[in-house]
Amino acid sequence: MHNCQGKPVNADSISGDNRPAKGLVPLVRIDLHTHSNRSDGTDPVDVLMTHAQQAGLDVIALTDHDTADGWVEARGAAEELGIGFVPGLEISCKLNGISVHLLSYLPDPSYPPLAKDLQVIRDGRTDRIPTIVARLNSIGVPLTVEEVLAQATGTPSVGRPHVADALVANGTVANRSEAFDRFLADGRAGHVPHYALEPGHAIDLVREAGGVPVIAHPWGRSSHKVMTEETLAGLVQDHGLAGIEIDHQDHSPQSRTALRAIAENLGIIYTGSSDHHGAGKIDHDLGVNTTQPEQFERLLEVAKVNAAASDAQVPEAYLP
Ligand code: AMP
Ligand code: FE
Ligand code: FE
Ligand code: ZN
Repeated sequence: MHNCQGKPVNADSISGDNRPAKGLVPLVRIDLHTHSNRSDGTDPVDVLMTHAQQAGLDVIALTDHDTADGWVEARGAAEELGIGFVPGLEISCKLNGISVHLLSYLPDPSYPPLAKDLQVIRDGRTDRIPTIVARLNSIGVPLTVEEVLAQATGTPSVGRPHVADALVANGTVANRSEAFDRFLADGRAGHVPHYALEPGHAIDLVREAGGVPVIAHPWGRSSHKVMTEETLAGLVQDHGLAGIEIDHQDHSPQSRTALRAIAENLGIIYTGSSDHHGAGKIDHDLGVNTTQPEQFERLLEVAKVNAAASDAQVPEAYLP
C-alpha cells in the first residue's frame, strides 16, 4: 500500500492510536478512466486488468468509448485478481460543434434509449471511415478502408486511433502521435467529425439509465472552448451533472486548481484518472492520476440514488 506521495508506508514506523493492527497502512488507489481494445485502447481487457493490479490499483473503471462490450470480461478478471471494478462508458458528445466526452458510471447500457443512441454513435464512427480514407488519399497518403478496419477487429467502436494504427502498419508514420500530429488531430485533413450527443441529453439519458454522469477532461484538447463554468453550472442545474474529471494529463496544474474551485462552488464530485489507452497514448500510465476515496464514496452514493430513481437494470460495482 502507498501513502499520498505513492511511497510505501510501513505500519511499524507509525506510533500512537492511528497505528493499524498489522501490515501496511491501507490507502486506496482508484483510477476511474481507462480504455481497452474494445474501443481505442491497445490492450485486451484481461491484460488491462492485470496491468491495473501490477500498477497497485485497488479500483479501476473501464470506460471504453461508446461501448460496454468489455464489462463482463473485466468483472471476471477483477474477481480473479481481487481488485475493484466499476463498469463505465465514455460517451461521445458535441456542443456547438466541439467534441465533449461524458464519463458514465454504472448505467444500464441496455436501457433502450441509451442503447439506441450508443448504436447510432457507433454507426456514425464506422460510416465516416471511407470519408477519412478519401481525404487522406487526396493529399497523397496511401490507405484503404480495409486497412483501417483490420486494426479495429473486436471493437464495435472505430476511432481515429485505428486509422492511426493503419498508418503505422503501412509504414506512413512511426506511431499514433505522429499520425495525429500530421493527419488526424482536429483541423487536420483526416479529421472528420462523427455523430455525437448533445451533452445535456446524454446526461439525462445516463441518469435515466441509473448511472452517474461526469464530464471527462472538461478543459482538455478541444472541450475547453465550450466547457466554461457557466456551461458546467447549467449542466448541473438543468440536467443533474454529478461531477467533473479534474486530475487528467490534459489539465495543467493551474487548470486543475481552477476546476477544483468550480467543482466546490457547484457542490459536485471531482475525479482523477489516467485515461490509459495501453501503448496508444504516451504519458497516460495507469494510476498517473487517481480519485480520492471520499470522492469515490460520493460517486457510489449518487449511483445508489440514480439507480433507485430508475427502472433500468443497473450493474453493480465489484468492490472486494
Ligand atoms: P475519435 O473518437 O475517433 O474522434 O478519436 C478521438 C480519440 O483519439 C481520443 O479518444 C483519444 O483516445 C485519441 N487521441 C486524440 N489525440 C491523440 C493523440 N495526439 N495521440 C494519440 N491518441 C489521440
Ligand atoms: Fe480514446
Ligand atoms: Fe476522452
Ligand atoms: Zn478516454
